[in-house]
Amino acid sequence: MKDKTKLIHGYHAFDEETGASSFPIYQCSTFKQASIKDGQAYTYSRFGNPTRTALEEAVAALETGKYGTAFASGMGAISAVLLSFNQGDHLVMCKSIYGGTFQLVNEVMNRFGIEVTFVDETNLSEWEHAIRPNTRGLYLETPSNPLLSVTDIAGVVAIAKEHHLVTMIDNTFMTPQFQKPLALGVDVVIHSATKFINGHSDVVAGLVITNDEEWHKQIKLQQKVLGGILGVEDCWLTMRGLKTMGLRMEQSARSAEKISQMLEDHPVVKKVHYPGLPSHPEYDIHKRQATSGGAVLSFELASQEAVYTFSDALQIPIAAVSLGGVESILSYPVTMSHACVPKEEREKQGITEGLLRLSVGIEDTEDLIADLEQALAKVRITVK
Ligand SMILES: *Cc1c(COP(=O)(O)O)cnc(C)c1O
Repeated sequence: MKDKTKLIHGYHAFDEETGASSFPIYQCSTFKQASIKDGQAYTYSRFGNPTRTALEEAVAALETGKYGTAFASGMGAISAVLLSFNQGDHLVMCKSIYGGTFQLVNEVMNRFGIEVTFVDETNLSEWEHAIRPNTRGLYLETPSNPLLSVTDIAGVVAIAKEHHLVTMIDNTFMTPQFQKPLALGVDVVIHSATKFINGHSDVVAGLVITNDEEWHKQIKLQQKVLGGILGVEDCWLTMRGLKTMGLRMEQSARSAEKISQMLEDHPVVKKVHYPGLPSHPEYDIHKRQATSGGAVLSFELASQEAVYTFSDALQIPIAAVSLGGVESILSYPVTMSHACVPKEEREKQGITEGLLRLSVGIEDTEDLIADLEQALAKVRITVK
């Protein structure tokens, strides 16, 4: 079964009992038991709920995984994975990492004695050299946010296997539609389903997928005892969003590719970051491990003034934090995702005052391009 068929038929999308065409919402905290003597499949909704199971199976199927677990947010999923390590353990992570994950590591995990070394994710020898006797895992996120740098997944997996380490990946930007890390040997895949998987900017959700039974047991335990389960209503909405993910991603990625080409040629745009552009430094690596450049890109204008002129003139994309919705979303890392990073550090990472991130929605490509072009025309500072 191919992916777009799988999105509709590859899991319990229909209710077997009644034939209902959408999986029912089991709005209950507990389940009447046949007897108090024996247990049964579902007993209490924090331990398990059929609506949540349906979503977990759906996403596992798409990621070519055996097991899925749904959490109340992407951060809930990431915490469940990272808090599975023990005091004294050491992890290696890509330095271009989601802000919340960075905070989790620096403000929570450090209190539990779990150490992390951040490396330049594009340099395989940095991953290898950061490994110590107490290293237990390698954590990657590719393409990265907001500069879309690409990590060689198979390369990191090979290093991990040699050192008997677990590999974890945040696959939010690519979705299982475009990148299947389990097939490349990664052990644990994480998603913020808030983004493309749900796709409608109306749910906050997270997922963990794995083929490893031991890891699944651990993640299931974390879900149960940390308690950050995804509520049934949100499970249902996420499943509903998921069904159109294939179509949405195709449309958005097609537009993103055209937009990135237009921006690359535009006289007021300094630089475009999009892994689907042949000029991207890791284009070949990305092409090997993903089937599309995806729907997120970032680009640099001359200055903050240029950014404000441009964004004030823009009509279609909404200015917002987040990404992966049906509507195009323009984010300004300097005042949004990276507002708490000191200017010096931010600039060192390449997150300048001219940088904007665009998550391309499913609007007509021509309309998006026309809108971006008219807004760029108002920016009079040419850079090439
Ligand atoms: C949004 C995001 C997260 C966090 O997800 P929430 O659902 O907001 O908790 C993690 N990783 C990436 C790459 C994200 O874009």
